[in-house]
Amino acid sequence: IRSCYDEGKRAAETLFFDYHRAHGVDIRVVRIFNTYGPGMRPDDGRVISNFICQAISGDSLTVYGDGTQTRSLCYIDDLVEGLIAMMESDEGPGPVNLGNPDEVSVGYLAQVILDMTGSSSEIVYHDLPSDDPTRRCPDISAAKRMLGWQPAVNLESGLEKTIDYYREVLGS
Ligand code: UDP
Repeated sequence: IRSCYDEGKRAAETLFFDYHRAHGVDIRVVRIFNTYGPGMRPDDGRVISNFICQAISGDSLTVYGDGTQTRSLCYIDDLVEGLIAMMESDEGPGPVNLGNPDEVSVGYLAQVILDMTGSSSEIVYHDLPSDDPTRRCPDISAAKRMLGWQPAVNLESGLEKTIDYYREVLGS
């Protein structure tokens, strides 16, 4: 079900590398892991936007599966710094992984967002979407080595800024 997404990214990398090899096009290839922050659409359906909007609107938080699956969430400013560092780097085209290696479970994330928003919303459990990875955590050793880059914003600080943003957008 998710193949179009996976294959689309894979085909894009291949095309970029072919143009690089055949025509000398100056390219950089970055593999972006889960990223969040102010500016996300409230209805984009991803975990941080859903949980924060649900919590501040008093709706139930929708955990898919049992919440033990993990994700590693990178704050937008960190990701943008990594992208710029890569674009300015002379270390070659990559690919490099950019993301935050701090891994948290989806259930933990729901609880942290409830605590940080002071919400009394409940947590409800829905079926896990098919092909939902049980674990996702980037190995960022190449980005550290090539770019001297690593994320600087921890989950709580990033969530705080994102919660403020959604309170403003939703007027609550
Ligand atoms: N998820 C969830 N509730 C939601 C939205 C997402 O439990 O309302 C889960 C989803 O099943 C996945 C994780 O949170 O395990 C991250 O989902 P997202 O769509 O943000 O990113 P993905 O890593 O799947 O691309």
